[in-house]
Order: sequence, then C-alpha cells, then structure tokens
Amino acid sequence: MKCPVCGKTNVDVVVTGRPTENRTVFRRRRECSKDLGGCGSRWTTYEAMLFGGNICASGGDVGSDHNTNEIMEEMHTAVRH
Ligand SMILES: [Zn+2]
Repeated sequence: MKCPVCGKTNVDVVVTGRPTENRTVFRRRRECSKDLGGCGSRWTTYEAMLFGGNICASGGDVGSDHNTNEIMEEMHTAVRH
C-alpha cells in the first residue's frame, strides 16, 4: 500500500487489525515502517466486502483522491450503524 504521507509503496506494516462489529468492514492500523525505508507515519485503512464478497474498496483515511473519500464516507456510515 502507498503511504499517504511520503508516497512510498510496500514499506507499510499492519500494526493492528480487527473487524468492526458487523464483520463486513475491516479496520487496520498501518505504519510506514522506518525499518523498510518509510517515514514512520501511521494511518488507518478500512476494507469492505461489497458485491457478493469481493473486496473492492480499500483506502486510507487521509485519502487523496475523490473516489477514495466517497468510499470512506460510506465506510464511516456503515461503521456507525
Ligand atoms: Zn511514509
């Protein structure tokens, strides 16, 4: 995954990961690992299973593009209910 802060790819590690209450959205804390040459920043990602079980959405909460932000708004709505 691309770091939203420094833009490097494949330097992130999952710090914690757990499903939300309804178990269709997975929340993960990721860290841009300094050990792998990253910047040490941390961020959260949500992964949702939509359309018959395919994982088709994954984005950080510091998302930089419009589509990701739209998906994230839906994620937050789903998490609230
Ligand atoms: Zn980084």
